[in-house]
Amino acid sequence: MKKIKVALYFPATEVTKPITYHLIKDYDLQINILNADINLNRQGKLVMDMIGTEWNIEAGLKYIEDQGLKYKLFTKSIIWQEEGCVHCGACTAVCPSGALQMDKESWNLTFDKEKCMICELCVKACPLKVMCVSV
Ligand code: SF4
Ligand code: SF4
Repeated sequence: MKKIKVALYFPATEVTKPITYHLIKDYDLQINILNADINLNRQGKLVMDMIGTEWNIEAGLKYIEDQGLKYKLFTKSIIWQEEGCVHCGACTAVCPSGALQMDKESWNLTFDKEKCMICELCVKACPLKVMCVSV
């Protein structure tokens, strides 16, 4: 099984298409939606993990293209250099996915990579530059 992270871009005319339904049903893919910004009057964006066999993922991406949608694969990842972190929480204020949170008991930062949509906002927000992008 393979896992990729992908952003789909929907033109205004296509935002009502049940794309994820078909990816799951017709291509046997597991879809984990990380972020959805869909507005009926303009372009929509959906960020998701796609898990399946290599063949099914390739077929699913071709299906997306055939529907007239654009997509972008995320090849980078976010690295938290924990030893340099002072747990100030500034990055949690900008994180749109909830990947960065303060632990309610210890008030230490926690980072859930699975939820990260690689928007890089935390990289800009961290005053100590301990959030970095790796390729
Ligand atoms: S902004 Fe930087 S120093 Fe502050 S909690 Fe986040 S990673 Fe740690
Ligand atoms: S890149 Fe940083 S701000 Fe963006 S989702 Fe990932 S952890 Fe949150």
